[in-house]
Amino acid sequence: MTTDEYYMNFAITEAEKAGAMGEVPIGAIIVYNDEIIARAHNLREQAQMPTAHAEHIAIEQAAAQIGSWRLEDCTLYVTLEPCVMCSGAIVMSRIPRVVYGASDPKGGCAGSLMDLLQEARFNHRASVTAGILEEQCGTLLKQFFKQLRNKKKIDQSADNTNS
Ligand SMILES: [Zn+2]
Repeated sequence: MTTDEYYMNFAITEAEKAGAMGEVPIGAIIVYNDEIIARAHNLREQAQMPTAHAEHIAIEQAAAQIGSWRLEDCTLYVTLEPCVMCSGAIVMSRIPRVVYGASDPKGGCAGSLMDLLQEARFNHRASVTAGILEEQCGTLLKQFFKQLRNKKKIDQSADNTNS
């Protein structure tokens, strides 16, 4: 197991916590000096907060932990490619390295849809390592949405029976 895989497993554990709560299973951790200083998962539904993404919460935790908005010696691990907002937060917090699992062709801004982390016109760029434990990260999401679709079907057929 590589170091990246080792740490991604902790992000996956966070994603599983989100899934168990009915949240889209996305998890993130931040590593500083070989130590995990932030662990978070998606909380958008529970918080009813559009900014409550795993990476965003983890960045806030890490800044509080270090006592600085500059997360210059940190690595962010996240199970899904960061969105536009989280990529923005990564640039703003000066995180130098991002490692993600599954790509997000519909919303990923770390190389898929856009590449905000490598945008030369910003004064900060983060190196990106993609595809770490990609299958595990992606399967969590696929299974979650499959269950959601099945539940909708069951609900709909219950509605039809009642009407
Ligand atoms: Zn996000």
